Amino acid sequence: MHIEPDIDLAFIGGSGLYNLDNFNMETALSIDTPYGKTSSEIITGKMYGRNICFIPRHGKTHSLLPSEVPYAANIWALKSIGITKLIGVSAVGSLQKDIKPLDMVIPNQLIDNTNRRVSSFFGKGLVAHVSMSDPFCSQLSETLTTILQSENMSHHSEKTLVVIEGPQFSTYAESHMYRKLGGHIIGMTTAQESKLAREAEICYSSIAMVTDYDCWNKNEEPVTSQIVISNLKQNVTKVQRLIKNIVKTPVLSSDACACKDSLSNALIKDRLKLDSSLIEKLNPIVKKYIN
Ligand SMILES: [Zn+2]
Repeated sequence: MHIEPDIDLAFIGGSGLYNLDNFNMETALSIDTPYGKTSSEIITGKMYGRNICFIPRHGKTHSLLPSEVPYAANIWALKSIGITKLIGVSAVGSLQKDIKPLDMVIPNQLIDNTNRRVSSFFGKGLVAHVSMSDPFCSQLSETLTTILQSENMSHHSEKTLVVIEGPQFSTYAESHMYRKLGGHIIGMTTAQESKLAREAEICYSSIAMVTDYDCWNKNEEPVTSQIVISNLKQNVTKVQRLIKNIVKTPVLSSDACACKDSLSNALIKDRLKLDSSLIEKLNPIVKKYIN
């Protein structure tokens, strides 16, 4: 397997984002992980002279439900090739009137309301409790917000993303409940990526593209699939522009956050006698701490 030595930045594409513009693909990595296959091969290559990689979250042909995405395999594989910065792009609904369709949101908080997904690398003999008080990398998120400002793109930051299991959208009562809980936008991915990336000591931030108002807003025209698809296409065009600027931004190379040490006080290993198969399984995640 050929791996670029200086590849550090990866993107996970959500609904509508299955390729990156101006990306010269070099390899398609098929990595076997202890958590199964990744959503698709990991595409590595160059964009504006920088080595990056990309995975379409729902597969190349959008064949995976949000509940079926192999989040642990994706993060494990990205960690194993040396990724330190990860940006997940996803389509969301808005729970607040001032967050309009076609706006971009950089969330800083999560409410995870999913209930049947693998959300941790740990267990079966090795225990860790990482902090999730700030579920996104503050430095990476700040960089994204700065780029959105400089590109004059309508956006919001410091918002709370509610993640539901899906695949159905919320009921009217649920949509109102999430608003009362403090949610600003709502989606079906992101929570597991945020948790697993934190355990893997990878900086992770999210770009949420608003396609519609969730069903709470009865004053709006009823959302049709044509409106959602049209908004999704416009959002993807904007996010491609955003990604171009992210790749060109050198500040992403600095180490101004604590993500890379998130396991340092989280592993409970003083009394531990680990079996070798578990150490092998978690090797890319814990090799810094356990020999
Ligand atoms: Zn970070």
